[in-house]
Amino acid sequence: MSGPVVLAAQYGAEEIIIRPAQVLRYLGMGGKQPDDQMAELMEQCVAEFKTAASYKVCWLTADISVEEVGVAFGFFYAPGKSLAHNLKGCKRAILFAATTGMQAEQQRRRAAVASPARALVLDAVGTAAVEALCDHFCADRRAELGGQGLRPRFSPGYGDLPLQLQRELLACLDSHRKIGLSLSASMMMTPQKSVTAICGIGREGCSAVSHDCEQCEKRDCAFRL
Ligand code: SF4
Repeated sequence: MSGPVVLAAQYGAEEIIIRPAQVLRYLGMGGKQPDDQMAELMEQCVAEFKTAASYKVCWLTADISVEEVGVAFGFFYAPGKSLAHNLKGCKRAILFAATTGMQAEQQRRRAAVASPARALVLDAVGTAAVEALCDHFCADRRAELGGQGLRPRFSPGYGDLPLQLQRELLACLDSHRKIGLSLSASMMMTPQKSVTAICGIGREGCSAVSHDCEQCEKRDCAFRL
């Protein structure tokens, strides 16, 4: 029996917008204005990161069966209420893994030896970049769906969805071969700036262009995470 069809795509550095406000947020300075020195360091780190990043995503679309306390994907079962709530009413879902690549990881490790401050900023830049990559990828898929919507992406570790599900997700996505993303015995992804997630396809979805429930003003949204 053949497995699900896994697709893969690579994005150019110019397509993924790393926003300074997001970098500040991941530095724990959200809402504050950086001083000149920090602003310059952030600018340098974004430019540096862009030269090393290799943005790749692999994904598959699966039929799903949503139950009260879990979701069956055919090739694995995801237990818990949180994902079941997020996917309520969906018959299909997109499962994906995204990474910014190994070179960006090595760049951050090298920086940590020479300048911990620089490594800290590069770390925040990497987080902002992989989140932006996921948003970009989801916007592409949403555009293909016509009348249907895409639910906000849901990752292992959110709500009561076990982090261990990352292993099944990455295995069915053949992520090591497709995009060079693997998982250690202690559940650490390599490269570290990577994300796995599930997005339900349904009649209703997330209406925000850049999915970020924390920043979104739609307070009454039924899909808020
Ligand atoms: S709260 Fe906003 S960002 Fe979150 S799911 Fe709803 S529309 Fe999307």
